Amino acid sequence: MMFTLIDLRYAQQALEPVIGANTLEFHHGKHLRAYVDNLNKLLPGSAFEGASLEEIVCKAEGGIFNNAGQILNHNLYFTQFVPGGKALAKGPLKAQIVRQWGSVEEFQKAFEAAGASLFGSGWVWLSAAKDGSLVISQEGGAHNPVEKGLQPLLTFDVWEHAYYLDYQNRRAAYLTALWNIVDWSVVESRYQI
Ligand code: MN
Repeated sequence: MMFTLIDLRYAQQALEPVIGANTLEFHHGKHLRAYVDNLNKLLPGSAFEGASLEEIVCKAEGGIFNNAGQILNHNLYFTQFVPGGKALAKGPLKAQIVRQWGSVEEFQKAFEAAGASLFGSGWVWLSAAKDGSLVISQEGGAHNPVEKGLQPLLTFDVWEHAYYLDYQNRRAAYLTALWNIVDWSVVESRYQI
């Protein structure tokens, strides 16, 4: 199975000023495209031909793992945004967030803190365990919570290529701004309990 570069569901300048058109052009059009091209070159003749990204990420190592992980992570990242954002509705996900963190605002603070304190390149995640409980985790490099048996719901990319053109070294400002474009209806749809 060959993997393809996902299309963005918004125009390249539509997420400004949170994510600039230049960042999107490089992040989606160059970085993610390179991961897709690299994986498609590595798969033929390997043990992972025909496997899903999730299967590859749970079992592979080295270049195949890194490129598959980055595709899976970026697909979740780019599809969770919408210009202007979409609020978290009253429902099972909001109820569980309030149960565990007290309020959506407190959850957001904890999520941002995890993203800000992740050393080096990686991703901060909100995931669901099988019992419906929620977990914030830091994953280095190309790692994804599916490796721990968790269902990924929301992720902020903290590799420098995600924010350096817009925010330079101010990772915390980038993390705070991202809430303005999160489409919570997408995040809710990933929460299957
Ligand atoms: Mn990235």
